[in-house]
Amino acid sequence: MSASPEDLAITVDAAGLQRRIDELALISEAPAPVVTRVLFSEADQRGREYVRKAARDAGLAVREDAVGNIFARWEGGEPGLAAVASGSHTDAIPNAGRYDGVVGVLGAFEALAALKRAGFRPRRSLEVVMFTAEEPTRFGLGCVGSRLMAGTLSVEKAAALRDRDGRTLDELRAAAGCAGPLESVRLPSGHYHSFIELHIEQGPVLEARGIPIGIVERIAGPSSYRVTLQGEGGHAGAVLMPARHDALAAGAQVALAVERAACTSASPDTVGTVGVFRIEPGAVNSVPFRAYLEIDLRDTRLDTRKRAYARIRRAAAAACRRRGVRMDFEEINADPPAEGDPKTIEAVERACARLGLASLRMVSRAYHDSLFMARVCPTTMVFIPCLNGWSHRPEEYASPGHVASGAEVLAHTMASLAA
Ligand SMILES: [Zn+2]
Repeated sequence: MSASPEDLAITVDAAGLQRRIDELALISEAPAPVVTRVLFSEADQRGREYVRKAARDAGLAVREDAVGNIFARWEGGEPGLAAVASGSHTDAIPNAGRYDGVVGVLGAFEALAALKRAGFRPRRSLEVVMFTAEEPTRFGLGCVGSRLMAGTLSVEKAAALRDRDGRTLDELRAAAGCAGPLESVRLPSGHYHSFIELHIEQGPVLEARGIPIGIVERIAGPSSYRVTLQGEGGHAGAVLMPARHDALAAGAQVALAVERAACTSASPDTVGTVGVFRIEPGAVNSVPFRAYLEIDLRDTRLDTRKRAYARIRRAAAAACRRRGVRMDFEEINADPPAEGDPKTIEAVERACARLGLASLRMVSRAYHDSLFMARVCPTTMVFIPCLNGWSHRPEEYASPGHVASGAEVLAHTMASLAA
């Protein structure tokens, strides 16, 4: 009979964890302080090797699946029981920083190493996952690894993914040494008892309120759409206003409809963005004949997001009808939001209370692998503050103390769930 997790003296090696974060940051396609590790690039491959070694150094058994998700396991006393898992990603968008994702992978290794040092003997196995391609840089779709694990991305769709150079996921994963059919990536039901992802907040709330730990109750569901508007071009001097079918003017109305739908939604969490807006021919003396927009629409509630979407569609169709512009409106992706699991959230809150750390229940506005893990097991996330809420830029920063607190909360939570 091992000691109950409450009695354990769990000490996280804050300096060692920071050293590993700094070491992994040097594995990059761009010179420091920039971190760039695009999926299956040479830097990503070396980053993966670093992760495997860090897992082995933490005394964990390493396994890899057909898409390159890496699993590091500490076998529990009852190996038949579902494991308690944690993890995140180590791929990084171009010009990123060193904490996004990395804190959740190396922090989980340190949490397990700390439990080992404390003499903890888990009943359930403990597992750390490094998810493949959380960032959408390579394929235009994020969370490829966790989507496949959760079965929300079909193998057919995954096989059809292509990068900018036309290379398929199958080609790239084979070149990276990932073997086996993609079908095998999907987790059997009940595979994990629970999943907790440690991550920097990527927002300003915790820092502003001076609270070291955030606990995620809901993750906003992202959706995105591409809109192509076909009008009629012509000479800017010769085509009189009543005869115009201006694709840009129609596109501008679509963009304003996105803003209006988000601003007047019943949910404060609805956000709508037109991040891409291109026109042709793009000459000062020519009426734009074509406009291309990409819309990002997110919400923590699916019903309000759907209503906002319907309003955008209606307003866009009406504007195009009035202007005699043809509209092609296509969904790129639409993921439902996820709810944090109440019991897992309470376990994190108890860990915070035991450690004397203030915590705050919050919403994750960015999406993470947890959005997909939540489909297959009870899930929550642990957020730590980051400087000015900055992320996806080289200045991204979380203090060593906050990183260590996050790992400590993770260690206590995983111990209580696995005991
Ligand atoms: Zn991330």
